[in-house]
Amino acid sequence: MGMESVISYSVLILGGIGLLCGSLLLVASKFFSVTLDPRVGDLIKLLPGANCGACGFAGCAEYAKELAGGGSSLGACRVVDEKSSSAIASILGVEDQVAERFVAVLRCQGEDGVARKSAEYAGLKSCRAAALSFGGDRDCSYGCLGFGDCVEVCAFQAIRKGDRGLVVVDPQKCVGCGKCVEECPKGMLLLIPSSSEVYVACLSQDKGKKVMQACKKGCIACKKCEKTCPVDAIRV
Ligand code: SF4
Ligand code: SF4
Repeated sequence: MGMESVISYSVLILGGIGLLCGSLLLVASKFFSVTLDPRVGDLIKLLPGANCGACGFAGCAEYAKELAGGGSSLGACRVVDEKSSSAIASILGVEDQVAERFVAVLRCQGEDGVARKSAEYAGLKSCRAAALSFGGDRDCSYGCLGFGDCVEVCAFQAIRKGDRGLVVVDPQKCVGCGKCVEECPKGMLLLIPSSSEVYVACLSQDKGKKVMQACKKGCIACKKCEKTCPVDAIRV
């Protein structure tokens, strides 16, 4: 077989493969194509674009698809403002549902000078690393470690490292997305309704005497709050 015949066969074979692949793609596009709901684009524009995941989906675009397809409800987004929320409701033809606003709070008051230190921690400056190595440098094993892993994940700059060894949440900026809550290896952060006026800012489960030795502001479960609450709303 001459060189010219070899080239002709190769061209024919490659051409055949190309034709076959093209036909398969055409069939696939006919049978597996998904028609995108035209409302999705408008919904994406109205959603905050924070991609924080508080709605339970990978990002705002994913949530918009679910909203249009009826897989989620408007109240799932905690970040959307009231104006956009009502515009989304009218696109979807549903009643407006503004989600209750939540804010993150820190359940520890053991700042420097309040919580006693029992060691000098010289490891990686990360809460996750410190939590793995004997739980950090403080006597209280329940307290905030202060390295700010939570700060790193907040897309709203609503939480910062304070200058006394604890983190500080700005309730005006916090949208209650819960990212910091998920990130904290000590479970120090909690989401509470923004209308709440009271929460227990200590997570210690130690006996009162041990708490008093470790921290000047720890909860010692003395039950004074429970006994004096006029509406019987507190249980220790
Ligand atoms: S709240 Fe948690 S993640 Fe944030 S600094 Fe304290 S221990 Fe670290
Ligand atoms: S402080 Fe926490 S809950 Fe608030 S916006 Fe930042 S990551 Fe979300």
